[in-house]
Amino acid sequence: MVEPIIKQSLKEKLKEIFGFDAFRGEQEVIIHNIVSGKNTFVIMPTGAGKSLCYQLPAMVLDGTAIVISPLIALMKNQVDQMTAFGINAQFLNSTLNKAEMTKVKNDVLSGECRLLYIAPESLTKEDNLSFLQKANLSFVAVDEAHCISEWGHDFRPEYRRIRGIIDDINPNLPVIALTATATPKVQQDIKKNLNMDEAMIFKSSFNRKNLYYEIRPKIDSKKQLIRYILNNKGKSGIVYCLSRKKVEEIANLLSVNGVKALHYHAGLDADTRMRNQDAFLNEEADVIVATIAFGMGIDKPDVRFVIHYDAPKSLEGYYQETGRAGRDGLEGNCLMFYSFDDILKLEKFNKDKTVTERDNAKALLMEMVAYSNLGICRRRQLLSYFGEYAEKDCGFCDNCLKPTKKFKIEDEAVLALKAIQQVGERFDIQHIADVLTANTANAYIRSYEHDKLEVYGKGKGMFVETDEEEDDDEEEEELDVATDDDSDDDDDDAPVATKSPSHPPKKAEKPKKTDNKRTPNDYWVSILRQMMALGYIEKDIENAYGVVRLSEKGKGFIQDSYPITIAEDHNYENTESSDDDD
Ligand code: ADP
Ligand code: ZN
Repeated sequence: MVEPIIKQSLKEKLKEIFGFDAFRGEQEVIIHNIVSGKNTFVIMPTGAGKSLCYQLPAMVLDGTAIVISPLIALMKNQVDQMTAFGINAQFLNSTLNKAEMTKVKNDVLSGECRLLYIAPESLTKEDNLSFLQKANLSFVAVDEAHCISEWGHDFRPEYRRIRGIIDDINPNLPVIALTATATPKVQQDIKKNLNMDEAMIFKSSFNRKNLYYEIRPKIDSKKQLIRYILNNKGKSGIVYCLSRKKVEEIANLLSVNGVKALHYHAGLDADTRMRNQDAFLNEEADVIVATIAFGMGIDKPDVRFVIHYDAPKSLEGYYQETGRAGRDGLEGNCLMFYSFDDILKLEKFNKDKTVTERDNAKALLMEMVAYSNLGICRRRQLLSYFGEYAEKDCGFCDNCLKPTKKFKIEDEAVLALKAIQQVGERFDIQHIADVLTANTANAYIRSYEHDKLEVYGKGKGMFVETDEEEDDDEEEEELDVATDDDSDDDDDDAPVATKSPSHPPKKAEKPKKTDNKRTPNDYWVSILRQMMALGYIEKDIENAYGVVRLSEKGKGFIQDSYPITIAEDHNYENTESSDDDD
């Protein structure tokens, strides 16, 4: 409970310092929690106002608050903002010279500096540590806390040293951890690693209701892209590409087609980056074509579309990047062009990583592949991935509005759940599918004696191949790109293929592009994944990555089953991407 007096003064401070009239969402309770000296864990989407949750406490409490932040650009951004509010905030990082460093430290020791932003690398430096031990500190904020987890999308090993350093400074300092993306597994890692099991968690919904999620097969992607953007002419949008080379090429292509487009990637000099970013923010350019280097900390409310020209590496990345659309709550279209070639390219990027890093990266990538291929409501999938359960289909994504073929299952669903039970709820979905289809290529089946289970091979006969030709209403895509049609009704292009499904590759085999035959194994993987999005199956975060178990709903279903609706997968792979020349 928030005591009335503190409550009053927090609100007054909010107005006095930041000029805001009211707290947003749970900000007030969160702030109260940290002001009361309790460890606090905040999981809220970007733009929800997380920063205020440590900025205001820093102004209310005695001493300096330490803010650990992974990027110099983010720190600078925030320090500029705070300075504009008349707050003494500074950063300590490698960009400072000796004199500047001394000035910052003096300001902290004198108590003038209220917020000290620091990179984890700087935090671990010996002389910084002894300086921090002398300072009067109020609390520590760990921003972008998902960097702690190797299952997060931006794992930073130095983040794992933060707890030890806080203990060296003062083990009693309250800690507030903040992140915009954390799957249940990542949340657990953060709590464990920061040793804040008892921390209050404040998690707001990941549902961005105004965002329309859509995936189109990457067939003739340049023309598809130009057409889409010309149909949305004058609107503000971001196009994400995988490589710097592609970014430049696509930006150029758009310019040639009369789109006011600029490019942005980490290979550009700081001036150009700043200039292009500002031009986009000030509406001198409509579209910015960028690598994922673009967007962190950028707060443009009226971005109308975010296009993934190439598939992202993880659903975390996808969620973050698409999240930059429609911040103002109005229209926000999230379009991704998907081809399995892109997934193979992304896999190649991992080849220099350690085995563990590679396996982790691949697991995250395969979640992305599954998301793309499944015909079930995109929002339900996304929410389930971030540990939220949605009761119903959203009615506002491509899979809801342009559904693939639906079918009902009941016995299959029971069988799938039983298989999970019979392997002791200690294996991943791929393994369950292998057991159900008696896949002898999976050596674990025999070593764990799963070939002796009642469910072993029971799924083979239940697999019904759906009619290949039915539902084939694919239209020829209109390739005319020189249109000045302003309407945003672009439903006429790039239909979603609804033929037989394809699937993520199994570890042992390489996917063949020409092979569109749906195997019984694919069928079961799809069913299991869909049942996860529907809340019958959940990931066991205490276990190895991907291990699944039954939810309460799943347990109930085995007792008392009923027909559930399943969607056929997409098949994006029977198309060649004709212009992919790198
Ligand atoms: P996040 O860190 O969650 O991505 P920010 O902290 O950057 O979000 O906040 C997004 C924007 O919302 C900022 O411009 C911030 O000043 C503004 N903001 C935060 N809290 C409030 C509030 N209570 N009232 C009005 N604006 C707010
Ligand atoms: Zn939906």
